[in-house]
Amino acid sequence: MIHQFDTVIIGSGLAGLRAAIEAAKYGSVAVLTKLFPTRSHSTSAQGGIGAALGNEEPDSPEWHLYDTVKGSDYLGDQDAIEIMCEDAIRTIVELEHLGVPFSRTTEGKIAQRRFGGHTRNFGEAPVRRACYSADRTGHAVLSALYEQCKPLGINFFSEFHVLDIVIENNKCHGVIALQIENGEIHVFNAKSTLVASGGYGKVFKTTSNAFASTGDCLSILFNAGLPLEDMEFFQFHPTGLYGLGILITEGVRGEGGVLINVQSERFMERYAPAIKDLAPRDMASRAIMTEIKEGRGIDGKDYVHLDLTRIPNQVLSERFPEITTFCKIYMGIDPSEKPIPVLPTAHYAMGGIPTDADGRVLNDEKAGVIKGLYAAGECACVSVHGANRLGCNSLLDTVVFGRRAGIAMAGENKNAERGNIHRDAIDNAASLIDLTIKRKGDQRIGDVRSELQTDMMDLCSVFRNEQGLKELVSKISIIEDKAEHITLKDKSKIFNTELLDAIEFGHLINLSKVIASSALQREESRGAHFRDDFPQRDDADWLKHTFAFKKERVVEFKHKPVKITKFQPEERKY
Ligand SMILES: Cc1cc2nc3c(=O)[nH]c(=O)nc-3n(C[C@H](O)[C@H](O)[C@H](O)COP(=O)(O)OP(=O)(O)OC[C@H]3O[C@@H](n4cnc5c(N)ncnc54)[C@H](O)[C@@H]3O)c2cc1C
Repeated sequence: MIHQFDTVIIGSGLAGLRAAIEAAKYGSVAVLTKLFPTRSHSTSAQGGIGAALGNEEPDSPEWHLYDTVKGSDYLGDQDAIEIMCEDAIRTIVELEHLGVPFSRTTEGKIAQRRFGGHTRNFGEAPVRRACYSADRTGHAVLSALYEQCKPLGINFFSEFHVLDIVIENNKCHGVIALQIENGEIHVFNAKSTLVASGGYGKVFKTTSNAFASTGDCLSILFNAGLPLEDMEFFQFHPTGLYGLGILITEGVRGEGGVLINVQSERFMERYAPAIKDLAPRDMASRAIMTEIKEGRGIDGKDYVHLDLTRIPNQVLSERFPEITTFCKIYMGIDPSEKPIPVLPTAHYAMGGIPTDADGRVLNDEKAGVIKGLYAAGECACVSVHGANRLGCNSLLDTVVFGRRAGIAMAGENKNAERGNIHRDAIDNAASLIDLTIKRKGDQRIGDVRSELQTDMMDLCSVFRNEQGLKELVSKISIIEDKAEHITLKDKSKIFNTELLDAIEFGHLINLSKVIASSALQREESRGAHFRDDFPQRDDADWLKHTFAFKKERVVEFKHKPVKITKFQPEERKY
């Protein structure tokens, strides 16, 4: 079936919906999602969205800018970060007017709480900057945006799995997707296409991410010859529930929760004397892993405790109902009575599809763009998070840059011709499905996928080194060959989730290779990328973005300078 739209958006998370609302003011919009729209991972965001409103204590966008630059370990592009921090206040007011039920102060203002790395007066002490809706902030914002989309006549294609994004002669013509319900192929011709397909935490064994976070569209664009930026930087959140990876928001440490080791020591005081448990995530994750490595895990095991018993019961139940329930259901622990076992969990992709500040996708490291192709949200790299994202800056990134991409697409559409996807591309997508279903061999997806996720976790997580990364690259190559021999039990085309798993697994392998190779080439430590064999940050050689390109079965690299405006790199102390 062939559809014609002015704008096609892949993804119904915050980035996709915010862009859709803008683009729909000027033309027809289709939103494609492989899930039901409000089940996108954005719905699980707990802790908050950052903006220097100063509702609870003095704050300023400039302090927010400074914290984000420093948090990024100076790899974030400061012009883009400035846009985000300056636009944050307007954004929160706009979200409130769109219907987001933010939690309130006693005076009725939007309440704000502390989050890691957010400080007053250029690093002096933690500041209350995260606006929140209890611990269901993502759900509140996503539901409000979805309600706004309906009256605007935005067309939702739920449970449509994108198989290809078609680019010819440096112009994007639209998208080819599989309707999951019946296995039909649909073609969406468009003047402009936005990729807002979220993260790819499923490359790792332990992750806070949803099952759908498999990075399909990044992998599709990489295969089409486009670059991926800064893929070595993957954030591990310090507090995942032990053994499960389910997230416990940093917001609890903002309200007085602390990390403790086997000696009941509040160990973050040693690692970040000024802001302690509110150190940025890369530092807190490394601190936890170091405590465990040095034998101070709880009962000799590989976890530490997150103690929330110090938070008054009323605060815990009013502001953190969701995570209190998680602890009770999944761990059998009431966090108001006992500390919770936690371990870092793969959480957020700083790297992604390179874009300019209006979401235009770059086709090289020199700012060339693809006509009609945009990206926003976690899949994109603007880059506002650099080597390490601060908590509550991602929700902000999705809505600020989602909106900007929506406006830019509407502008480009005025003078653009609609693309026309050729028969060859449609036949290729159809044959990918047929070949995957018919493939014969002795491998099962579940086994090979766990092998990949375990290898990524063991060799490419919080600590990395040359030997481990080289081993990982060759292991991924073996897994790539094994994947050629995966057989599906389900041969039908009706709601075949095994088929979708197989397609997604191909993308996970592809992205793992890019992450591991990018980590191997960067011979320094910066933000979330820590190399035991190069433990220092090296600004002389590495204050630059990585651009990874596909070259047959290997990855090739180019680099791009970091945009520095106000803040020169300094030693990162907290
Ligand atoms: C547990 C958790 C808690 C978090 N808490 C916070 C927080 O408190 N504050 C904060 O700032 N950030 C937080 N984050 C990060 C933040 O929530 C995400 O980075 C952000 O919501 C991503 O939004 P998005 O719009 O880019 O994508 P998502 O919300 O992930 O949506 C991706 C969309 O793409 C679609 N899609 C993907 N592939 C395909 C395909 N092949 N075909 C069709 N559709 C496809 C999916 O169906 C989905 O609709 C949290 C993340 C997690 C995992």
